[in-house]
Amino acid sequence: MADLRAPVQRDAPLAPLTSIRVGGPADALATCTSFAAVTGALAWAADADAPVAVVGKGSNLIVDDAGFRGLVIRLAGRLSSISVRGARTLWCGGGASLPRAVQRAAAAGLEGLEFGASIPGTVGGAVAMNAGAYSSDLSQVLDWAVVCDATGRRKVGRDDLAMGYRTTSVQGDQVVAAVGFLLGPGDADAIRARLADLRSHRRSTQPQGVRTFGSVFTNPDGDSAGRLIEATGLKGHVIGGARISPVHANFIEAGPDATARDVIALMDEARRRVRDAGGPVLHAEVRYLHPEWGIGAPPLAELA
Ligand SMILES: Cc1cc2nc3c(=O)[nH]c(=O)nc-3n(C[C@H](O)[C@H](O)[C@H](O)COP(=O)(O)OP(=O)(O)OC[C@H]3O[C@@H](n4cnc5c(N)ncnc54)[C@H](O)[C@@H]3O)c2cc1C
Repeated sequence: MADLRAPVQRDAPLAPLTSIRVGGPADALATCTSFAAVTGALAWAADADAPVAVVGKGSNLIVDDAGFRGLVIRLAGRLSSISVRGARTLWCGGGASLPRAVQRAAAAGLEGLEFGASIPGTVGGAVAMNAGAYSSDLSQVLDWAVVCDATGRRKVGRDDLAMGYRTTSVQGDQVVAAVGFLLGPGDADAIRARLADLRSHRRSTQPQGVRTFGSVFTNPDGDSAGRLIEATGLKGHVIGGARISPVHANFIEAGPDATARDVIALMDEARRRVRDAGGPVLHAEVRYLHPEWGIGAPPLAELA
């Protein structure tokens, strides 16, 4: 049996580890501060035949109301640190906050990562999702990543990760434990001014101060999921404790009593209405933690 070289919390509530704050507890939560601890935890789960899931800031994740009968891994300590290496490389642990990485790059006069200023995830989660905004995404600045699985760790280049629109080849039992971004030289004041502009644009177009997980659906080719949902009249629509945001129809806002079931029912309703109006079948951007299987797509109704 592999060695679980990390502190483990049993019956750990997961809702507070996500931005939408719904869902039940995990059987176990391991906090890993080294590559060896990450591979040890993954090997332990493989030996125990237990499902495993890595959670970053939980800013694009719905945890099932029944929780998770497996091991959740979080990154901390050195694996959430950020440092500038050489002239143009920003080294980040997979658990580092992406907005903090953006700030660190700006302070060092390194440009190219500004689009991530308002993406409230970890660097590892953002790489796994190929997060992006304003026509940029992480594939444009990623140089390499250290990816861990149950057999060990390997350093891979950007081209090994098959990064597409909010997709990569990173699997649910793999952990992006560290990342190198290759950035361009820039002027720190000009970068900060650009960051201020981007943040103010966000504040005027997206809900603020409410529990969401960012965009619910990916945008279909040539259109926007928000526009399609808004056209069905669903803005402000409530199911249980959750509603379609009155500010941006591709956001779901959770109230204090919301459940994962409410959120998924709203997703089903939005997809069905868009389809009934002659639109495309929308695909979830948000990930879902299934009680037995780990991370995958949310369990949405089949649409013809
Ligand atoms: C207000 C708001 C605005 C947002 N705006 C944007 C936006 O503009 N663009 C955008 O792309 N997204 C946006 N998001 C969504 C979200 O912030 C990103 O998808 C982010 O990259 C998720 O990172 P995370 O650490 O929170 O991942 P989590 O939500 O914790 O997990 C998401 C997925 O990544 C996996 N994962 C997490 N960490 C790792 C790791 N270290 N190694 C391997 N896999 C990992 C998880 O297993 C899961 O499959 C927004 C969310 C919110 C709440």
